[in-house]
Amino acid sequence: MIEKRQFYIDGAWVAPAEARDFEVIDPSTEEPCAIISLGSAADTDRAVAAARAALPGWAATPPAERIAAVARVRALYAARIDEMAEAISLEMGAPIHMAREQQAEAGIGNIDDALAAAEQVVWNAPLGDHAPGARILREPIGVVGMITPWNWPVSQTTLKVFPAMIAGCTMVLKPSEFAPLDSALLAELIHEAGVPAGVFNLVQGDGAGVGTRLSEHPDVDMISFTGSTRAGRAISRAASETLKHVSLELGGKGANVIFADAGERAVKTGVRRCFNNTGQSCNAPTRMLVERSIYDDAVEIARAAAEDTAVGSGHEAGRHIGPLVNATQFERVQDLIQKGIEEGARLVAGGPGRPEGFNRGYYVRPTVFADVTNDMTIAQQEIFGPVLSIIPFEGEEEAIAIANDTPYGLTNYVQTEDGARRNRMAQALRSGMVEMNYRSRGAGAPFGGVKSSGRAREGGVWGIEEYLEVKSVSGWAAE
Ligand code: NAD
Repeated sequence: MIEKRQFYIDGAWVAPAEARDFEVIDPSTEEPCAIISLGSAADTDRAVAAARAALPGWAATPPAERIAAVARVRALYAARIDEMAEAISLEMGAPIHMAREQQAEAGIGNIDDALAAAEQVVWNAPLGDHAPGARILREPIGVVGMITPWNWPVSQTTLKVFPAMIAGCTMVLKPSEFAPLDSALLAELIHEAGVPAGVFNLVQGDGAGVGTRLSEHPDVDMISFTGSTRAGRAISRAASETLKHVSLELGGKGANVIFADAGERAVKTGVRRCFNNTGQSCNAPTRMLVERSIYDDAVEIARAAAEDTAVGSGHEAGRHIGPLVNATQFERVQDLIQKGIEEGARLVAGGPGRPEGFNRGYYVRPTVFADVTNDMTIAQQEIFGPVLSIIPFEGEEEAIAIANDTPYGLTNYVQTEDGARRNRMAQALRSGMVEMNYRSRGAGAPFGGVKSSGRAREGGVWGIEEYLEVKSVSGWAAE
């Protein structure tokens, strides 16, 4: 059994103020695999005090030195990437291949992205020739509380920690209590890289304890949160008294609009994308909108693709999908599959219960519903499991209306060979991101949403600017 009861505060591993053990469950077996401590208000206060004390020194450290520190962490991360993948696979069930190639690799990608973007930040510049002596300075926001989920654990922490570090902020990270092991490793790497004490602090804990305390803390200047829309609301409420800046990356219910000319592969790839990470991605294309003229064929292709999707343990090598993260998510996804059936969607693959051959582990059958209408629960709620809803449409206008008829607005997808149509769709869809013909966002592009998906922007230069205040100065003396 792995034991990680300590927190990383002020450059040292310290015991919690009071013991509160929490078992981390391996979702592949339902057996406990690690023990952590859930922190309290006292632990949070201690970490915030350390971050506050470290702030003046780190904020005054030249950006080039801060960037160099992040580059050292990157090198150590690369050397221990297999360990990172194993931690993620164990705690949240991603099959080891996927944990290595997608999950752990995303951490490296995010650090590289932050290092590249750092070169573009304009820390101190004249406003323009029209206003002599007018200057725009960019300064760190201050102490940042970071609260992250379990589904892409190290991707989400690295998208916050390293841009904030480059910006000159100090921080307290509270990762998900269900996936705490990758963050413990990240803290080790940061320590080994010689990042000064207090710049980065890690307190394990749950939302009610550490999460709430961080959100309401008067000495925390900003909360950067990734997680559910429910928790995003609670955090915003808790943060409102102190008027701190709150940056939210929340859920999604992405439409994947497939026009008739896109072909069979567009459907197959859409199913695969929806089921990737066992459907536990905020940007998963979970509503497949298919043009009526190819609808029957598309349903058949999606059924075959789902039946072709293997499910297996996170510990086994292979291209299968793993279990869901925990019992709560398992029950939630089962209830939503049931709801889809009750509300009259046509079940074409999968369905309730575990896949054949499994009686333990949070495994779900890859499921496809056809004839879904957009008012059904499965079309409106984020399911966070391998469940695809197929909805027919007639023409561009109807596709746009259905795609936009959701509280969320994170990523939408469009598949068509018609370039002019693609460009019209990209402008008409209400979301922070539109990915077309399965081309991924370019390196340095921002990640984030609109509406109930939150309005944070992570990645690229925007991801660093999230942690910077803009200061407007006049009367700056010529140097
Ligand atoms: P969650 O909201 O339950 O938990 C996320 C984090 O918030 C955890 O660390 C949790 O302990 C903490 N938390 C929960 N309630 C809190 C509260 N009241 N105050 C403070 N902290 C609190 O979400 P989850 O189940 O861990 O993750 C899944 C959700 O995350 C999905 O809705 C998914 O779409 C979303 N997500 C969004 C993005 C994005 O970038 N938009 C990325 C990944 C996941």
